[in-house]
Amino acid sequence: MPQQLTNEQLIDAANRFGTPLYVYHAEKIEEQLNRLKHAFAACNAKFFYACKSLTNINVLKLVKQYGANLDCVSINEVKLGLHAGFEPKQILFTPNCVDFEEIEAGIALGVNVNIDNISMLERFGSKYGNSYPVCIRLNPHIMAGGNFKISTGHIDSKFGISIHQMRHIERVVKSTNIHVAGLHMHTGSEIKDVNVFLQGLEVMFEMARHFPKLEFIDLGSGFKVPYKADDVATDVNSLGNKVAEAFAAYEKENGRSLEIWFEPGKYLVSECGYFVVKANVIKQTTATVFVGVNSGFNHLIRPMFYEAYHRIENISNPNGPERIYTVVGNICETDTFAWDRKINEVREGDYLVFYNAGAYGFEMSSNFNSRLKPAEVLIKNGEVNLIRRRDEFEDLLKNQVEIL
Ligand SMILES: *Cc1c(COP(=O)(O)O)cnc(C)c1O
Repeated sequence: MPQQLTNEQLIDAANRFGTPLYVYHAEKIEEQLNRLKHAFAACNAKFFYACKSLTNINVLKLVKQYGANLDCVSINEVKLGLHAGFEPKQILFTPNCVDFEEIEAGIALGVNVNIDNISMLERFGSKYGNSYPVCIRLNPHIMAGGNFKISTGHIDSKFGISIHQMRHIERVVKSTNIHVAGLHMHTGSEIKDVNVFLQGLEVMFEMARHFPKLEFIDLGSGFKVPYKADDVATDVNSLGNKVAEAFAAYEKENGRSLEIWFEPGKYLVSECGYFVVKANVIKQTTATVFVGVNSGFNHLIRPMFYEAYHRIENISNPNGPERIYTVVGNICETDTFAWDRKINEVREGDYLVFYNAGAYGFEMSSNFNSRLKPAEVLIKNGEVNLIRRRDEFEDLLKNQVEIL
C-alpha cells in the first residue's frame, strides 16, 4: 500500500491550524527515496534532493535522515543544507547565471560545484587550477519535459555549456589545469520516456572521453510522478536496469568505473504534499458554477504558470453527488485552479484538498494581494507538527522602510 494521508488526518490538521494549509507526509518522502534506491541498486548511484522544490528545514533534515544528499541552486540553499546538517561533500551547488563571488562562496564552504558557462570556467581555472575538483554542466540539446517552461536541455535554453563547445571547454581545462570530476546534464521536468535519460547518458559517455579524471556523471532529474488518476510515472525500475547495463558496458570498454548521480525534486516530494483550502463561495453564473476558495495563485502557482493539473477533492463531503465546477482563487486577477472538474458537491465552508502539492507549492508562494503565506505542517509517524507558522500582518511591513 502506498503511503497516503487520510481525509480525517487532513481535516484534523485544517481544524487545528486553519486554512490554507500545506500538509506534508514524511513516510511518503521515504517511500519515494527507497523506490529510487531500489531501482538503481545495481548502479553506483547517489541521489541529491533538488531542494528548490521544497526547502522547509525539517524536510531537509528528513531527507538527510533518509539517506539522500542535496542539490542546491543558490548559495542560500547551500547554507540551509549545511544548517540542516549535511556535510559539504553531500551538497552539490548547481547555480545558473550567478556572479563569480557566489561560486567562490560555495567553494569556501567546501561543497561540490557545478559550472555552467565558459566565462566562469575560465575564471575558476585561473583562480583554483586543479586545487578544487569541479563538475561541468553540459547542454546535450535534447528537447524533453512536460512543458516548455520546464524544459532546460534544448537549443534555446540558457542552461549548461553546449556539447558543441567541447573543444573550447577542453582548451580552458587544459590551459588552466582544471580537475574535472563530474559531467552534468538536466534536461527538464516531467520526463516519462526513459529513452530521454538513456540518450543523454550516451552523450555524457561520449563527452567523458575528454576527461581522464572523471569520477561521476550526473543525469539531473525530471522523473515524472502521476498527477492525474491515470497518469504514467517515469518507470524508474526499467531506467535503473538500463542504466546499470549501460554503465557495465562502459566500464568494460573503458576500463574505468563512474558513479551515477541524480537530482530528484518532484519525485521525492510532490506526492507527500497536500494543500488544504476552504470553499468561501459557490457562485452560479450563466456559464458555470464557480467554487471560490480562500487561496489563489499566490499560494499555488502551478496551474496558472505551467497549466499544471492538480487533482482536487472535497474532503468534507466525499460521498456527495458529483457536480462540475470551475475552481478559482480569491486573487484580483484571473486565478483559475481548475476548469470543469467533477467534484463531490461543494458547500460553502467545505475543505477542498489539492494533491501533489509538495513540490513547487509553498516554495513558489508569494504575498501578492497582501495576502499571508500559508502555514506548513509535517505528519510523521502519525504525529502532527506545525513546521512553519502562517504569516502575520506584521510580516507584510517587516522589511519596508516607512519614510513618510
Ligand atoms: C529543478 C532542478 C532539479 C529537479 O527537477 P524535478 O523535476 O523537480 O525533479 C534537478 N536539478 C536541477 C539542476 C534543477 O534545476
